[in-house]
Amino acid sequence: MWWIAMVLGCGTPGIKSADSNVRPNIVLITLDTTRADRLGSYGYPAAQTAALDHLANQGIRFEYAYSSIPFTIPAHASLFTGLYPFHTGIRANDAPLRPEFTTLAEQLQANGWYTCASVGAYVTHRSWGFDQGFSEYYDGIPEDGDRNRWHAERPAEAVVDDALDCMAKRPSDEPYFLWVHLFDAHHPYIAHGDGKFADPYDGELAYMDAQVQRLVDSLASDSTLWAVVGDHGEALGEHHESSHGLFVYNSTQHVPFFLSGAGVSSGVVSDPVSTVSLTPTLLYAAGLQVPTGLDGVVLPNAEMSPYMESFQTLQRFGLAPQQAVVKGRWKYIGNPQPELYDMILDPSEIRNVAALYPDIVHDLQSTLLAQRIPPPGESIPFVDPAIADRLAALGYVDAPAPLLPVGAVPGDPKDYTRMFDDLQTADPTDPSQRLRVVSLWAKRLPYSFELRSQELHLLDALGQTDAADAVQAEMTATFGQDARVWISQASRSLARSQPEEALRDVEVALDCDPKNAAAVALKVRLLLVLERDEEAIAYASEVLRQDPENLVLAAILGKLALENEDYGVAFRYLNVAARGPNPEPGARVDLAALLVLQGNSDDALRLLQAEVAESPNDLRAHRLLASLLGQDGLYDLQSVHLEVLAQAHPEDPKATAQYALSLFNAARWTECQQVVDEGLERFPDEPDLLFVYANLLAKSGNVAEGRVVFERANALRGVEKP
Ligand SMILES: [Zn+2]
Repeated sequence: MWWIAMVLGCGTPGIKSADSNVRPNIVLITLDTTRADRLGSYGYPAAQTAALDHLANQGIRFEYAYSSIPFTIPAHASLFTGLYPFHTGIRANDAPLRPEFTTLAEQLQANGWYTCASVGAYVTHRSWGFDQGFSEYYDGIPEDGDRNRWHAERPAEAVVDDALDCMAKRPSDEPYFLWVHLFDAHHPYIAHGDGKFADPYDGELAYMDAQVQRLVDSLASDSTLWAVVGDHGEALGEHHESSHGLFVYNSTQHVPFFLSGAGVSSGVVSDPVSTVSLTPTLLYAAGLQVPTGLDGVVLPNAEMSPYMESFQTLQRFGLAPQQAVVKGRWKYIGNPQPELYDMILDPSEIRNVAALYPDIVHDLQSTLLAQRIPPPGESIPFVDPAIADRLAALGYVDAPAPLLPVGAVPGDPKDYTRMFDDLQTADPTDPSQRLRVVSLWAKRLPYSFELRSQELHLLDALGQTDAADAVQAEMTATFGQDARVWISQASRSLARSQPEEALRDVEVALDCDPKNAAAVALKVRLLLVLERDEEAIAYASEVLRQDPENLVLAAILGKLALENEDYGVAFRYLNVAARGPNPEPGARVDLAALLVLQGNSDDALRLLQAEVAESPNDLRAHRLLASLLGQDGLYDLQSVHLEVLAQAHPEDPKATAQYALSLFNAARWTECQQVVDEGLERFPDEPDLLFVYANLLAKSGNVAEGRVVFERANALRGVEKP
């Protein structure tokens, strides 16, 4: 054997399988974006992670645990199934975990566990399929005003509050499985502890740790098994990467992983493990049957060679994909110039020793090749052919194909480290500078989809249409099999009022990828622009029949029916588009408008209030709300929404006037006076403002002056009328 078997720690670490009459409670904490080497138990001197360290030191800690992929969604999918990303089919943050897979929670639930989850980010929202097997799923993630759900997060305190709330409701006669997902360590980092932390990342970890302590304090019980695992780490600038996703170095792949409590005897395991072993290990510990054919194994006594991957280098830059395997003390990354690192002596992967150990490189290369891992978009060599057939029947294999033309040899990312640095340091607010950087590297990497797309986008933004057209033409020539290129060309044609050309391009996009949701929606919109309404409706209805979850189409069809005063049909579609945790933007407002027409103001009000709570910048919702509240004489509430509208449209005198009038009706004279004064400075001849002003004067006893202003407003109104 060519590697050294290691013995660390003192105890004999082990996990007992529970007897069927003592089923343990299980608490699983997934620490998002958490590097192992930033926790005290993994030897970080500056760590303030006492609660996590206590769990780690009391239990079994895996010194060399590796995430299979540096993205939250596929990493969690692998954690919950015991399968590598090439078996779940989720290779990036772009697909939900399909119901065909059986999750850890489903197996525990089926065997009598009460299951509950509280999660901290949009990427673990139930729409990604992680709610499978959970009786309760707390994922009320607030959106920010830009509707950018990807950045929405819930602080650990709120996540733990909900977890404890759920635990308080648990039935006393069942064991429980609680999953808590803490997202705080994900960038951007919020400063904690009044400057106590030199690195805000450490502050986020300390903050999470304090919340873990709350959980431990509340759920301290002898029959509880605690499992803590990181979904992936954070590069923090190492290896020319700022966050995570591109590479598979230890900065993003070496994660904390430890089990503690019921059935666990303490110790440190120094054999390399993959976090895909979480599910089989917990099932075993729970006394349940471990399904055969999983990629993960029952720890700590089974040997394995953890695999990890990211295809982003290929899909974004046309460079070699990143695939690595760890065997014993060695980690091999299969780049054109192979990389080999010693995990014991060189965990930061500074010194590539591939040239020194050709036999080890060859052995690990063979281990990797033997797995016959397909690139994203190709069929999944799944162990259970029945599942494979079901997935194929669903059109499951729909990820974009690799972008290199046949015969092209992808470059080694190591040769492009300056590009990664340049892209990170380019000023995002200076499109000209960014364009220079992007164009420079796009010339050197003609198969980089991302660089070409950015170049195109920047040229369009800077109004350099001819140059943009040239890039677009090169992209369609190079990436002609990729639907996204044709959608981009179609959108640009539409923007220059050439809907016929746009429709032709969308048809090509749909040939490349018949289920592409953006292409389908764009085709419907284009048919409507071309006034081919019947065709649009027939096509959209047919797609929606096959895919009832296509909320975009439901929203379009609902809005169309509403405009055509076909209220029954409108209600049917809008109700689909506006329901559920992820309603289509605007669909709730359309449905509310319809409800108003049908005389159901109460339901309309409720929908609109939900809409503005989640999307505070939805002006249409504010407008409709203001009008409904005004009809009910609720001027105080009305003024809130009219203020939003007045601020959103500072150029519109009517918006200011309506806000002022609402304050007047609410008898808030001082504020009304202020708005009128400021408004008249900008719009001295706005009759509606003058009208409110006249009323204010009259109210304060200046009746004569008020009459003069009133008459002036009337005279101006006469001028205003056409
Ligand atoms: Zn994550």
